Amino acid sequence: MDRELNIICQACSKPLGDDEHNPGNLWVSHAELATRRAALAEWEREHLAPAADGSGPPMVGFRTMASHPERVRWRATHEACDSPADADAYTIASRRVRTWLDVVKWTSHLMGKTWINDTNWSTVIGEAAEGRSNLIQPVG
Ligand SMILES: [Zn+2]
Repeated sequence: MDRELNIICQACSKPLGDDEHNPGNLWVSHAELATRRAALAEWEREHLAPAADGSGPPMVGFRTMASHPERVRWRATHEACDSPADADAYTIASRRVRTWLDVVKWTSHLMGKTWINDTNWSTVIGEAAEGRSNLIQPVG
């Protein structure tokens, strides 16, 4: 099936190709995931701990929410531009994300990962569907 989607390299701004032509990966850094999870645990200890008088967790205000640790960003790069070592990142080869159906299948798969909500995948696919993503764009 022809490509419905281009994955755009964040280093050179050109589409990732398939295996035979300038391949690349969508990826998320394991180190950044570990950092985010530690920061989130710390944030929750600080802001969501039950009150000493037993009245339950405190209300979390807007200012506090603004300090909530950011989700780890998915990136896309050609292997020739910048490629994390396999051990350093969770990677999806560009040849495996060619169509909207592929995106649905990957989303289903990724929802089984304990760390998926520590990443911005939901934003990535939402922006792609709305045609305003700089990472996943319809061909043409
Ligand atoms: Zn590139």
